Amino acid sequence: MTDRNRIIIVGAGHNGLVCAAYLARARREVLVLEASDRVGGAAITREFAPGFRVSACAHICYQLDAGISRELKLGAHGLKTAHANLRTVALATEGDHLVLHGGRLEAGLLPDKDRAALADYHDRMLRFARVLGKQHNRRPPRIGGGGRSELIAAAMLGLDIRRLGRDPMREFMRIAGINIFDVLEETFETPLLKGALALDAVLGTNLGPRSNNSVLTMLHRLSGQATGVTGGLSLPAGGMGAVSEALAAAARAGGATVRTGSPVASITLEGDRVSGVELESGEKLAAGTVISNADPARTLLQLVGARHLETGFVHRIRNFRSKGMAAKLHLALDGLPGFARLAAQRAGDRLVIAPDPVYIDRAFDHAKYGQCSPDPALEITIPSIHDRTLAPAGRHVLSAIVQYAPFDPRASTDAARAEFLERTLGLLERYAPGLRRQVVASELLLPADIEREFRITGGHWHHGELALDQILMLRPVPGAAQYAMPVDGLYLCGAGCHPGGGVMGAAGRNAAHAVLGGERAA
Ligand SMILES: Cc1cc2nc3c(=O)[nH]c(=O)nc-3n(C[C@H](O)[C@H](O)[C@H](O)COP(=O)(O)OP(=O)(O)OC[C@H]3O[C@@H](n4cnc5c(N)ncnc54)[C@H](O)[C@@H]3O)c2cc1C
Repeated sequence: MTDRNRIIIVGAGHNGLVCAAYLARARREVLVLEASDRVGGAAITREFAPGFRVSACAHICYQLDAGISRELKLGAHGLKTAHANLRTVALATEGDHLVLHGGRLEAGLLPDKDRAALADYHDRMLRFARVLGKQHNRRPPRIGGGGRSELIAAAMLGLDIRRLGRDPMREFMRIAGINIFDVLEETFETPLLKGALALDAVLGTNLGPRSNNSVLTMLHRLSGQATGVTGGLSLPAGGMGAVSEALAAAARAGGATVRTGSPVASITLEGDRVSGVELESGEKLAAGTVISNADPARTLLQLVGARHLETGFVHRIRNFRSKGMAAKLHLALDGLPGFARLAAQRAGDRLVIAPDPVYIDRAFDHAKYGQCSPDPALEITIPSIHDRTLAPAGRHVLSAIVQYAPFDPRASTDAARAEFLERTLGLLERYAPGLRRQVVASELLLPADIEREFRITGGHWHHGELALDQILMLRPVPGAAQYAMPVDGLYLCGAGCHPGGGVMGAAGRNAAHAVLGGERAA
């Protein structure tokens, strides 16, 4: 093989690894270069206190594409599930908690009207989410592209919507661009139920329940369940890092080389096309194709450099909205926390603190104006209940997404981190009295910390907001939505591309297809 045949992938996030595995199976020479000392990017398991390990960013697996899992034989490469189908428990400070599962109420009290509406809402949204899910494994059509394949791709999207049937199609078109708050208000009465459902729409986004596009983000989240491995919310055995380890094993088994501890300083060019990369160590590696798993801004503005790109394109990349709003909390606990009025076996489910949509909206208001929410909304898991490898005997780890903390590197000081931690612990204590005394170690990652540790510009869950102007043929920007960038030989394969973030793998596989010239990467 000559260097020209070599494909370099910058970054071993799960999408980079999926891309590597498919290209290696197609007998391409693939070298993956990862800056950090482990594979996985935002899907890793790491020790944050002696003996306590946690999924350091992504902590619940619900989007991993079933086809990818099957084709890459992730089970044979070591991926196991610690729990395949978590319930969602909407925690209440008074009265019954609500236990929700697959659009049904399993425990707690709801008026008959809400109970019936819940099943209908879930089935309706799942149907709409499947329309999005069908697009995940397709290359978005080019805007204005007149070729046969472009027209077919555009027609298929239209057809998927049309196939919903007349009334559901009208409903889909009505709600797709509006906000989840209004949709929940027209459907339900119970604030606690509405809060839990609204949280699904805003987790990881820069949106409040009253923001437009929040129905779209809810459907994106649900689309993963429609197309994912388990059809539910699952915890991989060994944490999310186990997904990435299995993907790395699949890539290596196909013949790819994965090098960690190899930060890429720049993507090098010869004339108008890529010629390889230069590492921070000064080492130069030649390649005919470079695929970046890093986010769009990092790839194009830092690694390639704006001076090599057309001004209008640089402007569009600079305007790609990617300011994160989700913080991550990890607690090492000396025992199992006792949530008031919650049976011990339910503590291992997905617990949410989102008492009503107005509460979430107020939490967003603070963040909108640059402050961490004094009363944030939380998604909590205690994975050590199902997976004893994560904590010493008798002890536990708690992992929580804390929504909202605005991305602001200058304001992300130790004092700010300590204050937000204090507030979040105070909030948890209201639901689990005595929890504070059980904490033996803690870690709170603000979006600026996530940017630094995981090399994600803005620390954003999806590498960039999911919204009507940043999805499908507009993701990351018009003119660069088909994985190939406007530099010959350069591709993107991460969450900043269609179909966005979450531990799904579709962007990685689609990018491999694009590199292979549209042929199916078997
Ligand atoms: C706080 C938080 C919580 C989340 N929770 C969930 C969840 O519960 N469930 C879920 O499904 N999703 C969740 N997500 C989203 C999910 O983690 C990401 O969307 C997904 O992991 C992105 O994968 P990726 O492979 O596209 O990119 P990344 O995981 O960001 O990988 C990119 C890789 O490129 C590497 N890299 C960057 N620059 C360079 C360079 N110059 N040289 C070499 N390597 C480089 C990085 O180190 C990294 O390994 C969460 C995200 C966040 C931030």
